[in-house]
This record gives sequence, structure tokens and C-alpha cells, in this order.
Amino acid sequence: MASSLPPRGSYLKKENAGTARREMGLKVAPRRNVLSAINNGGAEAAPVVEFSGREDVERLLAEKMKGKSKNDFKGRVEQMSDYIKKLRACIRWYMELEDGYLAEQEKLRGTLDAENSRHTQLEAQLSNAIEELKAANLDLTRRCENLEETLSREKSEKLIAAESYEKEMQERELAESSRDLLTVDLERVTHDAKRFSEQLKMVQDTNKRLQEYNTSLQQYNSNLQADASKSGETISKLQKEKSAMMETMAALRECNNSMSSQLESSRASQQEAIRVKEELRKEVECFRAELKQARDDRDHSVAQLNNLNIELANCKEQIGRSSKECESMSTKVSALEETCNTQQDQIQTLQKQLAVATEKLKLADVTAIEAMTGYEEQKEKIKYLEERLAHAESQIVEGDELRKKLHNTILELKGNIRVFCRVRPLLRFHGDSNGLEGASISFPTSVESAGRAIDLMNQGQKLSFSYDKVFDHNASQEDVFVEISQLVQSALDGYKVCIFAYGQTGSGKTYTMMGRPGNDQKGMIPRSLEQIFKTSQSLESQGWEYFMQASMLEIYNESIRDLLAPGRPNSFDMSASKQYTIKHDPHGNTTVSDLTIIDVFSIADVTNLLEKASHSRSVGKTQMNEQSSRSHFVFTLKISGSNKNTGQHVEGILNLIDLAGSERLAKSSSTGDRLKETQVSVCFLQISNILSIW
Ligand code: ADP
Ligand code: MG
Repeated sequence: MASSLPPRGSYLKKENAGTARREMGLKVAPRRNVLSAINNGGAEAAPVVEFSGREDVERLLAEKMKGKSKNDFKGRVEQMSDYIKKLRACIRWYMELEDGYLAEQEKLRGTLDAENSRHTQLEAQLSNAIEELKAANLDLTRRCENLEETLSREKSEKLIAAESYEKEMQERELAESSRDLLTVDLERVTHDAKRFSEQLKMVQDTNKRLQEYNTSLQQYNSNLQADASKSGETISKLQKEKSAMMETMAALRECNNSMSSQLESSRASQQEAIRVKEELRKEVECFRAELKQARDDRDHSVAQLNNLNIELANCKEQIGRSSKECESMSTKVSALEETCNTQQDQIQTLQKQLAVATEKLKLADVTAIEAMTGYEEQKEKIKYLEERLAHAESQIVEGDELRKKLHNTILELKGNIRVFCRVRPLLRFHGDSNGLEGASISFPTSVESAGRAIDLMNQGQKLSFSYDKVFDHNASQEDVFVEISQLVQSALDGYKVCIFAYGQTGSGKTYTMMGRPGNDQKGMIPRSLEQIFKTSQSLESQGWEYFMQASMLEIYNESIRDLLAPGRPNSFDMSASKQYTIKHDPHGNTTVSDLTIIDVFSIADVTNLLEKASHSRSVGKTQMNEQSSRSHFVFTLKISGSNKNTGQHVEGILNLIDLAGSERLAKSSSTGDRLKETQVSVCFLQISNILSIW
């Protein structure tokens, strides 16, 4: 029995040795459970074997059974128990190793996450700082550009203003020089005017004097003319006197001579007077000309003076205007100088700000470089950690492979097909006398058969049976589950696993498989599923992703009923229900056509489905147990897993079956349909390898 091969995950066809694994409940509990399961599972002493590496494990696996003849079962059992002990020690070592790896992986993950978050934070801070600095720099550059623009504009304005100022200054200077010139001119003109006035006055005086002189000369001339006429009269008188005297000439000759000399002198004085008169006349003429000249000069000077006065007035006006302009220009210039000063102050402030910003930028650059260095260091660290993580992961993958191998070896050693026996407690209210009349149950306590055998006393006859494990009436659901939990792990590892309960009605099959509500009372099906989901979640950290599909069917009177079909009929009405047929493919997979398959993602999904199915199960009546199900209940969970890190892919199946009662025809007193049911049950069990007897 222990060496025979299990069916291919189906209860209807045998499968070859390579694919089917075992027909027992299996699931890997969280490692501690498994470990405790291993520790609790047997009464063996703690192993003394030490493992230092993979080679030891390989050596252990390669170890062959030696000595002992084929029939020396005891020897073989001992050897095998030793071997199992070693293997358990090996598994424990491996699990510790794996825990260590996992812890290290978690630690590394934590560190990596922390480093990543720190790195992200640093990056964010850095980018923020850079953004801020860039923005500030941009703002400052823009402001600087604006200011430079303003400055250049101001400078050009200042230049223009300075130019205009210079021009104004030049004009002013020109105006001032022209004013000076004009002042000089004015002074000169005033001086000239004064001189001319003086000259005029002098000329007027001279003129007056000349007029006076002229008058006196005229008077003198008239006097002379009067004198001349008087002299002529005197001459005629004298001539008459001459004649008179001629006679008296002789006498008077002397008088004549004196008279002639007198005449001569008079003539001379007359000539002199005429010459003087002529000279005076000429002088008067000259004075007149001079006077005229002076008058002309005066007129000219007056005109010039007037012109100069007008010019002076103009100049004064111009000077006034120029002064005003000068004042306004000065005001403008001072305003411009003030603006210029303010601008220069502003420029200085901005230059200071720019210098500060440049400093800041330099600082930021330094910080950025530091951050970059830190970033590089972090990157290096992350790389190193990632490498270590990858190494640890590869070690975990290797370890996982080894674990699977060891797990498989242990299960093979335990037997691919195992049969457990569970004795339920006596129920007072139940017809428990049936089948137990005169029978008493005892459990042998000898070393070989403790926990593995059961003795029945029936009408004085002792019947001994031995199984892979016997659970007495005190065994709890948890105790039973510990034994099969390892098989559930196999389903996740990609094996086909089948657990089913067999026994007569009322023996506790449904209790064991489904259990009752409440944590302690939960049966193998909910516990297995819980473990499947828990383990699949814990394997996510190693890159495993699992996808699960559930189906439930009931076999009653040779017909199949889909318990999850939507709008399912309440009976096995063959005409109404679909034609479910069982098919086997070349890969050893067994499927039922038209069966409803539902994707499940959590234990809650499966619990709902189980509740739905349990309500749908058909219940028959027999003398053995009124409420026992008269149908076979099959729960199938298809598990496909893939590892995104290693690319591995597994397809496992977990079949959990609660068979119909196996009571004898005579005892159940079934007839007709009921008789057929029992026959079907027996027939079905023969096809499917029986793994557990309850
Ligand atoms: P079966 O499915 O084999 O017909 P059941 O599971 O319905 O039997 O069990 C019959 C009765 O016995 C039920 O009331 C069940 O609760 C009870 N029972 C079975 N096994 C145990 C047990 N180990 N502890 C307590 N009660 C049990
Ligand atoms: Mg039942």
C-alpha cells in the first residue's frame, strides 16, 4: 500500500508515478506549524544529526537502505525511522536556514525600502531645492535683466540728459560769454556813449565857442568892413585933402608919406585881417565839418546806442530766459542725478542680492553635488543590497527546491498513500449501539504500535488493525489536521492531492471533513483552504502568484450534480440537468464537462461556496443515520502558481471528498434506490484508491 502510486488527482483513474503524488490531505502550514507538526508528529527523540551544508543534505538524500534482508521489516522500519529522524533534522535545519534567509530578506527589503524612500525623499528635496533655486535664479536673472535694462535705459537717459546738460551748459556758457561780451559791449558802448556824449558836449562846447568866435569874427569883420569903409572915406577925404593938400603937398608930402605908410600898414593889417578871416573861415569850415562829423558820429552813436540798448534788452531777456532754462536744467540735472544715485543704490543693492544669490547658487551647487554624491553612494548601497537580495533570493529559490525535494522524500517515505483511522466519541442521543454491540475498542501502547494500531473485541474475538495513524476519541480536529497539513503544501507545490473520508453513516466523515461552525470544530476542508490561502500569501514574498478555481459536485445514484450551477435544479432530475461526463486528458488531468468553475481569491469566497453547496446536498434517510448524506461530495480546488522571479509554473489540484456511508446492505436495510446508493458508494471507492478510513 505504501509503495503504490496515487491516482492523478482524480478519483476515477490511476495515474503514473511521475505526476500523481499522494492521496492524503496536505498543506503546508506556516513554517512553525509544520515544524511543530514534525516535532509533534512522532514521539521520536530530537535528532542528533548536524547539517553544515547542501552536500550533507545531498549525501543524506543519496543514502541507501542497506543490510537487512527484504523480510526484515522491523530492521527496515528502524532504519527508516532513523532516516526519517535525520530527514526531520535536515528539514528543521533547512527551515531554520530558510527562516534566517527570509529574515535577512525581510531585513534587506526593509533596508532597501527605507533606502529607497530616503533616496526618493532626497531626490524630491533636491529637485525641490533645485527648482526653488532655479526659480529664484530665474527671478533674479529676470530682475537683474530688468534692472540692467532699466539701468541701460537710465544710463542712456542719463547720457542724453548729460548731453543735453552739457549742451545746455555750453549754451549757457555761450550765453554767459555772449552776455559777458554783450556786457563788455554794453560797457564799451556805454563808455563810447559816455565818451560820445562828452565828445558831443565838447563838440557842442567847441561849436558854441566857434559860434561865439564866429560871431566875434563876424563882428570883427563887420568892424573891419566898417573900418575899411571908414578908411575909404578917410582916403577920399584924404585924397581930397591930398588934392587940397597936393597943393599943400609939398607941405604935406611928409604928411602924405606918413599917410601912405599908414595906408600901407592898414593895407597890411587888412590883408592880415583878410588872411585871418580866411583862416578863421577855413577854421569855421573845418569846425563845421567837424561838427557835422561829430553830429553824424553822435547820430550814429545814438543809433548804435539805441541798437545796443535793444540788443542789451534782448540780451537781458535772453539771459533771463537762459537763466530760467539753466535753472530748470539744473533742477532737471539734480533730479536726474538724484535718480541716478537712487538707481546706483538700487544697482548696488541688486548687485549685492545677485552676489548673495550667486553664493546661494554656489552653495546649492555644492549641496547638489553632495546630494549627488550621497545619491551615488546610496545607489551603490542599493546596488549592493539588491545584489545581496538577489543572492539571498537565489539561495531561497535553491532552498525552496531543496525543501520541496525533502518534503517530497519525507512524504514518499511516509507513503504516498496513507490511511488514518479516527474513532469518534460515543454520542448519547444517537443510535450508537448499532455496530458496536459487544465490541470494545482499545489502543495498543506498545512502542511499535502506539498511535498506529487499534484492537476491537467483537463477541470475545480480538481483531487487530494497524494504520499509518490512529486517532482516538479525544483527538481534536486540529490534531487530525496536523497530520495532513503537509499534504496541502504539496498541492501548492504542484502535486495532485486527494483527501477523502470513508466510513459508515454516522461514523463522523462529514464532521471530520466539514466540521461544525466555530474555530475548534472546523473540519479538514476549511482548515486546508485556510492554510492554502495563508501559505500562498506568504509565498508572494518569494515571487509566487497563485490563481485558484473551485468546483463542487455531488454524485448520487450514478449521476453527477453540479452544486455551484446557477439556477441549479434541486434534484437529480436527469432529463433536466446537464449531461456531465468525466473526461481524462493525456496529461493525467480529469475534468467533468459543463461543471461550474468559480474563481476564488480568498477564504471568504470559498466559505460562501461551501455554505451554498452544503445547503444543496441531497440528504437521504437510512436506519443508520437519518441525517447522513447519501451522496458523495467532491470539492476540487485547482491551483495554478507562477513565480515571476524564477519563471517557474506549477499546476496543483486538491480534491477533498466526503463519501457516502459505507454501511453494509444488510445493516442499512436499504432497498430500491437506497440499495443502489450503497452499491454505488462501494463501487466508487473501489475505483478511487482509498486513503483514509474513518
Ligand atoms: P457521517 O458523515 O459519517 O455520516 P457525521 O459526521 O454526520 O457522520 O457524524 C454523525 C454525528 O456524530 C454528528 O452529529 C457529528 O456531529 C457527530 N460526530 C462525529 N464525529 C465526532 C467527533 N469526533 N466528535 C464529536 N462529535 C462527532
Ligand atoms: Mg455525512
